[in-house]
Amino acid sequence: MSPTQAVDAPITGADWVEQVHELARRRNAVVLAHNYQLPEIQDVAHHVGDSLALSRIAAAADAETIVFCGVHFMAETAKILAPEKTVLIPDAAAGCSLADSITADELRAWKAEHPGAVVVSYVNTTAAVKAETDVCCTSSNAVEVVESIPADREILFLPDQFLGAHVRRVTGRDNIHVWAGECHVHAGINGAELTAKAQADPEAELFVHPECGCATSALYLATAGAVPAERVKILSTGGMLDAARRTGARSVLVATEVGMLHQLRRAAPEVDFRAVNDRASCPYMKMITPEKLVRSLREGTDEVHVDPELAARGREAVQRMIAIGRPGGGE
Ligand code: SF4
Repeated sequence: MSPTQAVDAPITGADWVEQVHELARRRNAVVLAHNYQLPEIQDVAHHVGDSLALSRIAAAADAETIVFCGVHFMAETAKILAPEKTVLIPDAAAGCSLADSITADELRAWKAEHPGAVVVSYVNTTAAVKAETDVCCTSSNAVEVVESIPADREILFLPDQFLGAHVRRVTGRDNIHVWAGECHVHAGINGAELTAKAQADPEAELFVHPECGCATSALYLATAGAVPAERVKILSTGGMLDAARRTGARSVLVATEVGMLHQLRRAAPEVDFRAVNDRASCPYMKMITPEKLVRSLREGTDEVHVDPELAARGREAVQRMIAIGRPGGGE
């Protein structure tokens, strides 16, 4: 690549991968991409995965710089787990409606109303909220984390109301208070669409992310006998990939952000994966473009900073989760 090549020039063609990898070599950087990124970003990244798996890769990597193609709280989590490394996100404005549904001040006020309660936060939270958290959880271990807390302790579960409802239903606990947050992308995947798609393809399996508004509908469909229970799978994004490799089904309906279809089709090309809602595309994730990734690698933008004291407290909450058992994957 010419050093004078315009950063914002459209990036196409076979040398795209070579450009990115050469820039990464020069910066001693590793490029990580979340499962909801644009396909061309997923294809060029050194690693693709869910938010927690990528943060753990960031912590273990030899590279000095982590380029996190995802949303801002994910890059913050990488910085929390790898404080000595430079963490870049190609566009710091890539936020998350779920992480933004609770602030640290709101959490402190909620804790004051429930003294002694244990705070369990899904990993989709800002560093400031993680610093106020006792133990983090992912969608695949949320039940396990809650079950590790003595039955007589109150729990404040945040920020996702659908994941919270799923955990409350599975554990049978009635002393879980759930924050009324939601991801506008996942909440838009509704039960009516799921039911219609499931009825139109009675042989299909259903892969449902528990943050989806339709997780309840999926379980209802299973318990009502509309869809055999063994065909309904409530899975984290990492769990979906494992299930895709093992499935014997010819078609699978997928209820999560549509970027996930790219990895599923790569994992099991013979299976027909279809979105329950093909408009479920996260606009924040799609803010990371090939042009911004190149600019990030060339110019070192945008660097992610987390206050060291907040990072240390947030790290404890993540490490408590890892100590409880299988950390699984987040979104
Ligand atoms: S899909 Fe929802 S939870 Fe995920 S990053 Fe986008 S806004 Fe946040």
